[in-house]
Amino acid sequence: MGYIRSEALKITQDRKPVTITEPAERRSEIYSTNVFNDAAMSHFMTKDAYNAVMDAINHGKKIDRKAADQVANGMKSWAISKGATHYTHWFQPLTGGTAEKHDAFFEPKGDGTAVDKFDGGQLVQQEPDASSFPNGGIRNTFEARGYTAWDPSSPAFMIGTTLCIPTIFVSYTGEALDNKVPLLRALQSIDHSATEVARYFDKNVNKVISTLGWEQEYFLVDSALAASRPDLMMAGRLLLGHEAAKGQQLEDHYFGSIPERALSFMRELEIECIKLGIPVKTRHNEVAPNQFELAPLYEEANLAVDHNSLLMDLMSKIAIRHNFKVLFHEKPFAGVNGSGKHNNWSLATDTGVNLLSPGKTPKSNLQFLTFFINTIKAVHDHADLLRASIASANNDHRLGANEAPPAIISVFIGKHLTEVLDELENVSDGSLSPEEKTELKLNVVGKIPEILLDNTDRNRTSPFAFTGNKFEFRAVGSSANCAKAMTILNMIVSEQLRNFKIEVDILIEKGMKKDDALFNVLRELIKSSKKIRFEGDGYSEDWVNEAKKRGLNNFKSTPEALKAQISKSTLSLYEKHSIMNKVEVEARYEIELEEYIKKIQIEGRILGDIARNHVIPTAITYQNTLIANVKGLKDIFGNEFEKYASEQINLIREISGHISTIISTVDKMTDERKKANKIDHADKKADAYCKNVKPLFDKIRYACDKLELLIDDELWPLTKYRELLFVR
Ligand code: ADP
Ligand code: MG
Repeated sequence: MGYIRSEALKITQDRKPVTITEPAERRSEIYSTNVFNDAAMSHFMTKDAYNAVMDAINHGKKIDRKAADQVANGMKSWAISKGATHYTHWFQPLTGGTAEKHDAFFEPKGDGTAVDKFDGGQLVQQEPDASSFPNGGIRNTFEARGYTAWDPSSPAFMIGTTLCIPTIFVSYTGEALDNKVPLLRALQSIDHSATEVARYFDKNVNKVISTLGWEQEYFLVDSALAASRPDLMMAGRLLLGHEAAKGQQLEDHYFGSIPERALSFMRELEIECIKLGIPVKTRHNEVAPNQFELAPLYEEANLAVDHNSLLMDLMSKIAIRHNFKVLFHEKPFAGVNGSGKHNNWSLATDTGVNLLSPGKTPKSNLQFLTFFINTIKAVHDHADLLRASIASANNDHRLGANEAPPAIISVFIGKHLTEVLDELENVSDGSLSPEEKTELKLNVVGKIPEILLDNTDRNRTSPFAFTGNKFEFRAVGSSANCAKAMTILNMIVSEQLRNFKIEVDILIEKGMKKDDALFNVLRELIKSSKKIRFEGDGYSEDWVNEAKKRGLNNFKSTPEALKAQISKSTLSLYEKHSIMNKVEVEARYEIELEEYIKKIQIEGRILGDIARNHVIPTAITYQNTLIANVKGLKDIFGNEFEKYASEQINLIREISGHISTIISTVDKMTDERKKANKIDHADKKADAYCKNVKPLFDKIRYACDKLELLIDDELWPLTKYRELLFVR
């Protein structure tokens, strides 16, 4: 780390794309070859072991020790056949990243010989040294140990020569220390609630899974250029730097041809992903220069979350070979589009039906409307919690900044479905006449397929949009672990479906026909969730005012947004669905606040450091040149010199002005940090960082950026926007 700008630019100019040759086999042939998938399991495992795993996946059955030994044995044989030397329990601690600790299969027997050992015990549970993972006080209150435990619902895979076993991470007393445990519990909850409701329409439904298709946005920056920017290396974003004269105004990058170097990187990444069973399909340029997106086909949510974490890991590693640094930060470059991770979400039955896909028959349409309207109602009732699920210091730069969805949660459904809901809402009270019912159902049938075709109807400014056969939660941050958003989304929809079922059953018990009961409850849901629906421009000031009138919250900062995580109603919701207990929820809240505080604290330190140690010395050097120039002019022109030196003198003054602003503001920021650090409670401390420390960044940055424009380009030590964004 630590190139100066001129060195970094020279290195970058000499770069050649790394040549990546496609493997001899077609991609369809290498798909999933590094995964202990169904085919590998049935080949390497006994029938009993295979059935035990399938029972665990499909019915949540426990795997006993004997079966676990057999599974371990099969897994080991498979892994060794692929050249594995080590295994690891792969997990996702609350840092948001992934963690692993490698152990060798190899074990000396003590008689001079050795064996490869891996049994059920090693498969099922491990105790990594977990003391430095965040735990929000859980392990202080309870017990210092953390355990990883095998998650059979996500298959083991090979990276290099290591067998990776997806695991959950829990404390000795069973509290979740990771993002996966709450997700698995939420998925269980929605499976139960959605199955019950789906059975109104089809008695053959026995299981409902939640599906997730994420779209990952990111930036690629040359690694030498990145290394010349301490802010990019340590905070993941530029804390200062003037925008380039050319940014994304021309929108010539979007869907443009992908630069050769980036394409090589993507090719290698895709090949690795495909071998690992991550079904990556699309790649394209994004709106901003050097910004890209990658999206796989959707999968069961737990697997999709694992795959996204794995992908981010792979991307960082593979990028190094291509001399790139991948930026996952939500807003690496102020003034340029940020990055998100759209979470496309739906529900699917074990009979192969997408519950959010408008059907062709009246019955399947009523089913669609049921899940569609209940989802809207869930978002309506728990908008604040959904907002909290995506809150982070990074994402604060994005939400509401006129490019990403606003911080106000709303649902977009498009013109046709709005009409359908309006009609349904106005159906007369009591039971429906047969004509009304048929009309309604037919209307739905007739209209819905159009939305799939009508792309103009897509609203890019909505945080939660219906896109034909799924909802797309667009406000998720690019660096986030999708588990957080998916846990909450699935939980709130599960809660809503449960309530829905209760209400419908009451009407049925009173003697109403099932269809009428469904229609009646749905109609009330449409009415009571109306205010969350918004079809207009989410970026407009009008919407901010309108939302306020409607009573929708607009939490612009993380400390504000996170509060919904620990409200009484949230706690009881988590407990009701057995997703997290009070200790687990509060621990997470604490961790997220701490993370927020640390991020702003680190950014403040880096900014202060760069401003003082890079910007000011450069400004003084340039100012000295100007001073020498003025002195020289004085020598030549004597008393008349001002006629020739007035611009230089102005510049000297201007530079001094900015220098003094920077110094006084950096000092003030340091003072505010000190004050904030003395605050005991994390929520108040985060507030202080948000309200008193962070706003000073802008003032410091403004002065530094002005200097960047004034000072001789040759002298400027920091790689500029135009170089970071346009050098390929
Ligand atoms: P966009 O125009 O936003 O790129 P696409 O139609 O290309 O939208 O789909 C985006 C993502 O939606 C893909 O990752 C895809 O797998 C996912 N997706 C499609 N159907 C579903 C579904 N039923 N459940 C979850 N995700 C889905
Ligand atoms: Mg999308």
